[in-house]
Amino acid sequence: MISILQISIPCPLRFNFDYLSDQSLTHWQAGLRVRVSFGSRELIGIVISCKEIDDTVDTSKLKPILECLDQQPIIPADLLSLTHWLSDYYHHPLGDCFQTVLPKKIRHGEALDLQMETVWKSSQKQLKIKIGKKQQQILDLLTENNDGVVQSELYLQLGQCRSSLISLEEKQLIEQFQQIKKPSITHSMSTPCQLNQEQQLAVNTVWDSYENFTPYLLQGITGSGKTEVYIELAEKAVKEGKQVLILIPEIGLTTQFVTRFRQRLAVNIVVLNSSISDGERKQSWLLAKEGLADVIIGTRSAVFTPLKDIGLIIIDEEHDASYKQQDGLRYHARNVALIRAKRAHIPIVLGSATPSLESLYHVEQKRFQRLELNKRATGATLPKIHLIDSAGPKADNGVSSILYKAIQKQLDADNQVLLFINRRGFAPVLMCHECNWQATCSHCDAKMIVHQGRNTLCCHHCGLIQRLPSQCPQCQAPNLNTYGAGTEQIELSLQRYFPDTPVLRIDRDSTQRVNAFADIVADIRKGGAKILVGTQMLAKGHDFHDVTLVGVLDADQGLLSADFRATENLAQLIIQVTGRSGRGEKPGEVFIQTSQPQHEFWRDLIKQGYNYSANKLLEERKLIAMPPAAYLTIIRAEDKQEQLAMQFLTDVHALLTQHQQEVIVMGPVPAIMEKRAGRFRAQLLLTCSQRKPIHQLLDHSINAISSLKLSRKVRWSIDIDPLDLM
Ligand code: ADP
Ligand code: ZN
Ligand code: ZN
Repeated sequence: MISILQISIPCPLRFNFDYLSDQSLTHWQAGLRVRVSFGSRELIGIVISCKEIDDTVDTSKLKPILECLDQQPIIPADLLSLTHWLSDYYHHPLGDCFQTVLPKKIRHGEALDLQMETVWKSSQKQLKIKIGKKQQQILDLLTENNDGVVQSELYLQLGQCRSSLISLEEKQLIEQFQQIKKPSITHSMSTPCQLNQEQQLAVNTVWDSYENFTPYLLQGITGSGKTEVYIELAEKAVKEGKQVLILIPEIGLTTQFVTRFRQRLAVNIVVLNSSISDGERKQSWLLAKEGLADVIIGTRSAVFTPLKDIGLIIIDEEHDASYKQQDGLRYHARNVALIRAKRAHIPIVLGSATPSLESLYHVEQKRFQRLELNKRATGATLPKIHLIDSAGPKADNGVSSILYKAIQKQLDADNQVLLFINRRGFAPVLMCHECNWQATCSHCDAKMIVHQGRNTLCCHHCGLIQRLPSQCPQCQAPNLNTYGAGTEQIELSLQRYFPDTPVLRIDRDSTQRVNAFADIVADIRKGGAKILVGTQMLAKGHDFHDVTLVGVLDADQGLLSADFRATENLAQLIIQVTGRSGRGEKPGEVFIQTSQPQHEFWRDLIKQGYNYSANKLLEERKLIAMPPAAYLTIIRAEDKQEQLAMQFLTDVHALLTQHQQEVIVMGPVPAIMEKRAGRFRAQLLLTCSQRKPIHQLLDHSINAISSLKLSRKVRWSIDIDPLDLM
C-alpha cells in the first residue's frame, strides 16, 4: 500500500503539500518531522495528515518523503491543534506558524535528546590515606551533599579541579554518573512573607477553580504583592504535580523576577527569553515537554512551550504591548494563553496595576473575574503627583526649574531620582537656520535623530546611520541647530547641573551589550547611580527602594498622538512610573511636565485614579465602535514602487466588499509614515461589531486575495486585532 501525506512546509503558501510514502498508514502520525525535497531545496516539514490510496490513483507527479526524522510526534497533540488554531485565527500560513511555535533546533531537524551532565558523588568509604588539600575540599563538599554535586557547580565553587576529581575516583573515594541537565535549584531560600488578607483571598479564589477554566484579572496597585500571589499559586500547583507557565513582558525584567521565584520555590524553574542560546532553548523546551520542568517563566513566545501536565497560567503585566508580535505571525500571547487555558481546563491569572481596556471590558462582560489588591504590601503609601506646566520657567534644555529644585532636595537627602523621556538620542531635530534644511532620512518619511556621543545621525525607523554634519549640507552655513531633547541630552544637562552626582542613562543605546541591563539594575540597587535617565524600559516592574522622585518629561506625546490607544497607554505609563517611586520606607513624589496641565485627562487620572480614567476611555471606545467594543483587522501592503501597495489594496477592497456589507472596509489609505525603509506603505481597515464576520470574510476571500496579480509583487500581511493602527 502507498500512503499520501499532507506535509506542512516552512513557506509562505497557504496550503499543505502532498508527498508519497511506501510505508503504511500505521507508520504515520500527525506531528512527525520529515525531510522532503521542495523545489531545488531540501526542507523539513511536519506531517499534518495521511491517507492510504490504491493503485488507481495517479501519483506520478508526487515526490517521495526522503526521510522520517522521528519515532514519535515531536509536537504533542494539544500544541499541534493550537498551531492549527493560530493559522486559522490569524489567517497565517500553517507552515510559517510552526516557525514561530517550534524552537530553531527542533525546526532544523536536530534529534530530541536531552543534554546530560556529569555529577560527582562520594562513595562513603572510610578515608584511610592522606589526600591533598583540593581533594579534601572536594570530598568535604560531596560528603555534605549526599545526592552528589554537578561537575560545573563543583568547578564554580572550587575552581578547575579535574585532576583532583580523577585521582579521587581512582582511589574509589568518589564516583561519577550522568544525569539530565536541569537548571540548578537555589539552596539559599528566602522565607515566605505572611500574605495579607487581600492576597490570601486572591490565592484562595483562584485555587478554588483549580481544574476549571476561569480567567482572573488580578488588579493590584504597584507594590501590592502580586508577585507573592503568583509564587504562592505556583507553589500550590507544583505540589499537585502540575506545571505552571508564567509570561512576563519582554524587557530586562527577567532576572529580578526569576530570582524571586528561585529563592522561594525549590523546584525546577526554566527560563525562556531572548537572551538564552538556541541550545538552552531546546533543552528547556524538552524539559517542559517531558514534565521535568515545574515552572516555566518566559516572554511572549514561551506561550508555545509544550507542557506535559499544565495546571496554571499566569501573565504578569498583562497590558504590556510586548505580548503582541508585530511581524510575521502577529499573535497576541495573552489571547493564545487564554485559548490554551480554556482547552486545558485550568485557571489563568492576568496581573496588572493598569489592566488593558480589553481585560476590563471582559470583567464588565463577566467573562473575567476581578481580584483586587488595593494596598501596598509593605505599607508604603502611593506618591503624590504634581503637574508642571512646561511653558513655565526652565533651568536648562526643557527641564523645568521646579523639577531641578525638587531633584536637588532628594539628592540632599541621599535618595535616588528617576527621569523618563521616551526618546533616545540627543535631539530629534537637526536644522539649519539660514536655509531651513532639516536632517531627514532618505529611505523614510522621518527625521534623523542626533546622537552626539557617537557623532552620528540615525534613523530610528530603518537604522540608517550618517556622520553628523558640521555644516549645512545645503547652504554650507557653519552652524546647525538642534531642537527638542532625548535621553542623551537630558543626561548631559543633569550631569552639568549636578556635577558631583553620578548620572546613569538607560535606553536601548546604553544597554546593547548582553547583560548590560542586568548590570545597570544591580548598580542602581546598590545605590551607585543617583540620577537615572531612561526610556520606558525603566518604567516596568522594577523595585528600587531608594527612588523617591520620578519625573516624566515628555508626557504630551500621548495626548497628541493619532493612535487611538495613545491615551490608554499614557495612563498606564504614568501609573506604572508612579509605582517606581516611594517603594521603600521613604515616601515618594512624581512630577509630570506637560504643555496641557489643564487637560481633563490629568484631572481624571490624578484625582480619580486609573479605573476611573480607564472606564471613561472604555465608554468612549464603545461610542466610536473601537476595540474592545468592536473588532479590527488591518491588511497592510508595501512596495518599493509608489502606488503599487495602494493599487493592491484597492483590488482587495473590491474583493472584500463584493458580496457583503456586514464588515466595514475602510481605505485603502497611505500609512501615516508612508515611506519607511525605502518602501511605500498603505493599509486597509476592516471593522465589525462582532468577531466572527471578519473571520468568515477573510476565510472566504483569502484565496482570491492570494491569486490577485499584485499579491505576488507587493509585500502584504494581515494583522488580526492590531495593537496600533499606524
Ligand atoms: P507587585 O508585584 O504587585 O508590584 P510585589 O509582589 O513585588 O508587588 O511586592 C512588593 C513588595 O512587597 C516586595 O518587596 C514584597 O516582598 C513585599 N510584599 C509582598 N507581599 C507582602 C506581604 N504579605 N507582607 C510583607 N511584604 C510583602
Ligand atoms: Zn542651510
Ligand atoms: Zn529611515
